Amino acid sequence: MILVTGGAGYIGSHTVINLINAGYKICIFDNLENGHIETINVLKSIENDIEFVKGDLRNTEDIEKVFRQFKIDAVIHFAAYALVGESVENPSKYYRNNTFGTLNLLDVMIKYNVKKIVFSSTCATYGEPAYTPIDENHVQKPINPYGASKLMVERILDDFDKAYGLKSIKLRYFNVAGCDEKGRIGEWHNPETHLIPNILKAADGKVFKIFGNDYNTPDGTCIRDYVNVEDLAQAHRLALIYLENENKSDVFNLGTEKGDSVKYVFETCEKVLNKKINVEIVERRPGDPAILYANSKKAQTVLNWHTERTLADSISTAYKWEVSNVQYI
Ligand code: UDP
Repeated sequence: MILVTGGAGYIGSHTVINLINAGYKICIFDNLENGHIETINVLKSIENDIEFVKGDLRNTEDIEKVFRQFKIDAVIHFAAYALVGESVENPSKYYRNNTFGTLNLLDVMIKYNVKKIVFSSTCATYGEPAYTPIDENHVQKPINPYGASKLMVERILDDFDKAYGLKSIKLRYFNVAGCDEKGRIGEWHNPETHLIPNILKAADGKVFKIFGNDYNTPDGTCIRDYVNVEDLAQAHRLALIYLENENKSDVFNLGTEKGDSVKYVFETCEKVLNKKINVEIVERRPGDPAILYANSKKAQTVLNWHTERTLADSISTAYKWEVSNVQYI
């Protein structure tokens, strides 16, 4: 059985669908603070056999209960806070949950002799890029507590490998976009801060705000690498297979290797929706680097991971979700 922490959240729930389609047995552990019980219900309607345990990583007993009850073979660990701005205002919250919560999880894993983990890391561990595209050897100097909380876990994982033989795959995500092709689950944050959902939410007549058009990029807006969430989910399955076959630790960037500007993403949304959306340029958002995109060659060659979906695909599935999800919000 695979334990998926944060399986009621955005990337976690899409990965659960990928894994159940591949025949894995799943236990989801989530405190439902940012995840949703409705998402669990949808996942259970797809596969009745999914176990769900409501619990919090900051409480070791919650974690132990799972390991006592189920025979866990490996863990995919998504559960974390992930808002950069909030992490600057409240670093304690981030270190306590993302770093110490993970340490609790790892301690319990070692106690129960579970020695395989796939960890959700982030391109925010690199900080301000010294060069692009960013490869895995780029220096890691995070510029906010969110990135730092994740980098600390990467270091802990390396030390746990040396000391206890815990094998980890660290997946450093770039920007994630899109939703389940069948529209069953999607990106559901409250408040929503991300680019594509914010553009789509403005499509009904509100005004979408671009955070700055005076960056040193061709059109002045920030450039990011938007990887589709179902492509990203597939990378987790491949990472599990790699751990099973090779039994060794490694790290991979997950991105499309293509940088798209905010303005380009906005225009692509208008094209996909075939609709004009109101837009205004406002101040820069603090902490946004001008350009971030991935060199993902290592994931392509070692994991045999290839992205299959375009930015337009991500926008189209995200819009399908946005329209069908209104009853929940
Ligand atoms: N962005 C924007 N307006 C919004 C949300 C985001 O202009 O309402 C920009 C943001 O400044 C960044 C890019 O879109 O340059 C991607 O932001 P997002 O929050 O989606 O992801 P991040 O890069 O922060 O992980």
